[in-house]
Amino acid sequence: MNIEAKELTKIYGTGEGRVAALDRAGLEISQGEFLSIIGPSGSGKSTLLHLLSGLDRPTSGSLTYDGRNIYELRDKELSAFRRQRIGFIFQQFNLLPVLTARENIVMPLLLNKKQPDEGYLDQLTKLLGIRERLSHLPHELSGGQQQRTAIARALIAKPDVIFADEPTGNLDSRSGGEVMDLLKNIWRSMGKTLVIITHDKRIAQMAERQFMIVDGVLSEVNAE
Ligand code: ADP
Ligand code: ADP
Repeated sequence: MNIEAKELTKIYGTGEGRVAALDRAGLEISQGEFLSIIGPSGSGKSTLLHLLSGLDRPTSGSLTYDGRNIYELRDKELSAFRRQRIGFIFQQFNLLPVLTARENIVMPLLLNKKQPDEGYLDQLTKLLGIRERLSHLPHELSGGQQQRTAIARALIAKPDVIFADEPTGNLDSRSGGEVMDLLKNIWRSMGKTLVIITHDKRIAQMAERQFMIVDGVLSEVNAE
């Protein structure tokens, strides 16, 4: 999917407490691109990610996926759109503690009343090096294994776009490096669009296109 954001603005609060978390951000992403967005704490990264993925709606501005303005969708339609087309990876993994790795991975499909494609599940978990860990609970896995489980969950519904919010923020540098190598490998081999939010310059530099955000203002780094 091709994504186009125009003049996305998000204002929280009113009067004295008014915060412009995002100020007229514009962005075009073609299917298969790998972008990073770097910025300090409080700069508006999460706000931008929530708007780009349709988890939240802007104060003003538009966002199209293949020409369709997704903010015109009703909440239920928008949530269905997200579940089918977008995968999310979080800093805290967000695995459900009482479910096994396998149950966590297939949960997005069950929510859509779909059955897993066993061949694809097998291929994904092999690629991610967790095929032998599927019957384990999250607390029985290392941090890196938990994040690799979460990556499988993000991919199981075969979305076009993956949004990763500080995917290595909770990992040591070795397992963080492994997770980044896997994400890059998946991006390259599967043709997914990958958008990574980070405050780590080394991770930002792994992307094809780098953006930075400062006080809610988004700009492309080294744009031609
Ligand atoms: P980052 O992800 O880069 O840390 P955020 O997008 O979370 O930045 O926040 C950007 C700004 O918006 C910050 O000043 C933050 O305090 C403010 N903000 C974020 N969410 C809310 C909210 N729900 N209500 C009020 N202010 C918010
Ligand atoms: P709904 O509540 O509208 O049914 P879901 O909770 O199913 O939507 O969320 C759809 C997608 O958005 C899921 O992939 C989920 O992981 C992700 N998601 C849900 N809440 C958040 C959040 N607060 N921040 C980031 N991603 C989220």
